[in-house]
Amino acid sequence: MAATTVYCTNHPNIETLLRCSRCNRPFCTRCLIRTPVGYKCKECLSNQQAGYYTATLMDYAVAGITSFFVSMLGGAIAVVVGRLFLLLEIFYAPMAGGAISEVVWRASSKRRGRYLWLVACGAFIVGSAMGAMLYPIISTVMLGRGSLLGTLLLAPLGVLVNLGFLIYLALAIGTVYARLR
Ligand SMILES: [Zn+2]
Ligand SMILES: [Zn+2]
Repeated sequence: MAATTVYCTNHPNIETLLRCSRCNRPFCTRCLIRTPVGYKCKECLSNQQAGYYTATLMDYAVAGITSFFVSMLGGAIAVVVGRLFLLLEIFYAPMAGGAISEVVWRASSKRRGRYLWLVACGAFIVGSAMGAMLYPIISTVMLGRGSLLGTLLLAPLGVLVNLGFLIYLALAIGTVYARLR
């Protein structure tokens, strides 16, 4: 039976029956970590985690900028949608949120980042609000009615009380978060 005795890869004096489920090397209980998919050695576990989150700083920057501009478009459309029919937001928001997260994901080289969703959601809120403010500003300029300064000052307030836009914001951010998390 001596031939079948297996020792821990890190501790040549400790006999063991356990193996890492990834690299199949024998390890003792001190060297293995229990995961939902079996025991793994520390080396395999850290390799796996490093491979999971691969987004670079550049990916984060691109994700934030992309999210901002796409969300701006989405927010501007949300205001128009809300004016047409408030309940349309319920259908429009998940669609727009899905499209925004898809664009952000592709722009950031389809890589995963631990905080990519946070950057995308932050940029989404700011971008959406800017987009929503575009509507009254553009209509004032195009129609030439009222003072532009007054519109500029009232635009942020208008966004805060725009129910359709707020519904859109709440629903769409949920989608962006779920897709990029
Ligand atoms: Zn291993
Ligand atoms: Zn060991």
